[in-house]
Amino acid sequence: MESIDREQLEILAKLQSVETETNIINTKLNIVPGRIYSLEQEIQAFDQRLSDESTRLDVLQKAYRKYELDVNENLSKMKKSEVKLRGVKTNKEYQSTLKEIEDIKAINSGIEDKMIDCLDEMEEVEKYLSTKKDEFRVLKDQIEVEKDAIHQESEAGRARIKEIQTVWDAVSKQVDPELMKTYLRVQDQRGVAIVAVKKAVCQGCNLNIPPQMFNELQRGDSLRFCPHCQRIIYWKEA
Ligand SMILES: [Zn+2]
Repeated sequence: MESIDREQLEILAKLQSVETETNIINTKLNIVPGRIYSLEQEIQAFDQRLSDESTRLDVLQKAYRKYELDVNENLSKMKKSEVKLRGVKTNKEYQSTLKEIEDIKAINSGIEDKMIDCLDEMEEVEKYLSTKKDEFRVLKDQIEVEKDAIHQESEAGRARIKEIQTVWDAVSKQVDPELMKTYLRVQDQRGVAIVAVKKAVCQGCNLNIPPQMFNELQRGDSLRFCPHCQRIIYWKEA
């Protein structure tokens, strides 16, 4: 069994803890583009809905103007028929001109109904747009704030990783080269290389360390591996 001083184990544990912190930060940094993307998608979808409704309003306004023109055109046709009516010679002509006028009136009445529906719909869309535009501005501001927070958090994370790297460089120099090799090998195999044992339970795999081994571990003078997960272990008071 390789003998080791307790301080070396503590240094390894320190290395492990800063590496774990780096991994946590990196995991958060990795999801930043996705978080930004989904916020932007949200605002884009909202913007699209507003633009669709604006287009709908535009179409309605055009339709309304077209109805107005049609009504006016029909009114002038009707005036002509009314003039004609005054000069008719036969009853048959009178009846047919009268029918012309009645037909135009019926058509205009139909158009006017459509105009009322059109106005109702326009009012509805305008109401939607005015409330939603306010909501949109609020949401846009919120999302900007959120994005800023994410960017700041990322900056802080990257700065922390640099700090950690400095710590790691300094601390790793204090590790015996052979021990460092072992550490890196276990890390390669297990991800986390060194774990504490609290109350005889390995914190890497949550399994119990045999009592004999636990007693030896408490002395902290030899390099030990968890018999279950093969990580380097050290004793830590629970
Ligand atoms: Zn274990």
